[in-house]
Amino acid sequence: MVELRHVKALSSMAQSCSGIGDCRTAYRQALGWYGVCPMVDHTPGFEPYYARGKIRAIRGILEGKIEPSEGFARVMYHCTTCGACKAVCHVSGVAQITWPTSKYIDHTRLFEAVRTDLVELGLGPMPRHREILDWARREHNPYMEKHEDKFRWASGRELRSRADVFFFTGCTGPYRMPAVCQDVYDVAAAAGVSLAVSPDEWCCGSIALRVGDRGLAETLARHNLEVFEKAEAKTIVTHCAGCYRTIKKDYPEILGELPFEVLHVTELLARLVEDGRLELTEGELTVTYHDPCHLGRHCEVYEEPRRLIGSAPGVKLVEMKRNRSGALCCGAGGGVKSAFPELALSIARERLAQAKETGARLLLSACPFCERNLSDAGAANPSLKVQVKDVSSFLKERLKMK
Ligand code: SF4
Ligand code: SF4
Repeated sequence: MVELRHVKALSSMAQSCSGIGDCRTAYRQALGWYGVCPMVDHTPGFEPYYARGKIRAIRGILEGKIEPSEGFARVMYHCTTCGACKAVCHVSGVAQITWPTSKYIDHTRLFEAVRTDLVELGLGPMPRHREILDWARREHNPYMEKHEDKFRWASGRELRSRADVFFFTGCTGPYRMPAVCQDVYDVAAAAGVSLAVSPDEWCCGSIALRVGDRGLAETLARHNLEVFEKAEAKTIVTHCAGCYRTIKKDYPEILGELPFEVLHVTELLARLVEDGRLELTEGELTVTYHDPCHLGRHCEVYEEPRRLIGSAPGVKLVEMKRNRSGALCCGAGGGVKSAFPELALSIARERLAQAKETGARLLLSACPFCERNLSDAGAANPSLKVQVKDVSSFLKERLKMK
């Protein structure tokens, strides 16, 4: 019998599932019955595509009833690690809905553990993930780009190598959405905060952790800690929600207590606006906001982006029906965009339709990875096109020039 050692350590989670199935379809007064897991409507939708079925399959392996196989692995990688299942599950520790019970499931932790076991067994990750991780081992990014090209976005800016606040740029921004890096840097500078950056920064390791390559993630984390220490940073700020979750929640598990504070850029900018250090111009506009899963459900940063948007005079924020802990994932996370690109776009189309339904002309978010997938889906479907923009870029356009 094959042993899944990482899952075995969490076997009480696999035993905690009551099987009621809110993780597939749940009822909320504001929404009626709705599909919780993005996999249900965008895959064949059989049980193992969503949390209850995944947990049943894991239990089957722990009990020796089934063996891990390529088919099992493929289904386990059909998950964006969005955490929507955890947000509705009555044994997940969520205060408003948890039953009085000692049972407990942290769904994404369990699914990442099974992926780590699959990697150790040679059944994971998916073929495209392997190519990406091999590249990240050599060039420290998952985008098949040269490391030395990472700081092209900074051209014309005088960058500091040491400062209290270090801007961890991640990979999606510098290689795929460089304007967002420029906008973060420029908005902070307008508030009098010079951000340090380092050409030695490597990928945060999020993709490695999400698809189960813990060894690579640990190497990347150790390297980045040295970079942060060299910069003498007291605060690390990220604009990518995936980097934020990884540095804030995963690094302490890998490296121990961190000697600095970790902020998402929306938290930093909200402080600066509240201190009166950023003044914004007036202009009537209706916008909506997409909660990135790794910022919202994973780290509970819901209000800072909204406060920032609301600080722009004349801007009206209208919520999508699914917002905050109930938000629909953009479809890209957990290695889905790289391994199953059509699935990622299909989920993003549903999210764009929800944004369009609000009547807003602009869909703001706070993660370049979400914005990229939503933009890709919009570009291929003109009827769904809503302009997608990062909150930092939105603020930069509205900065009052002194
Ligand atoms: S994972 Fe949670 S919501 Fe889903 S069936 Fe199990 S106990 Fe119910
Ligand atoms: S984490 Fe998201 S995609 Fe994965 S099973 Fe849960 S709801 Fe579905």
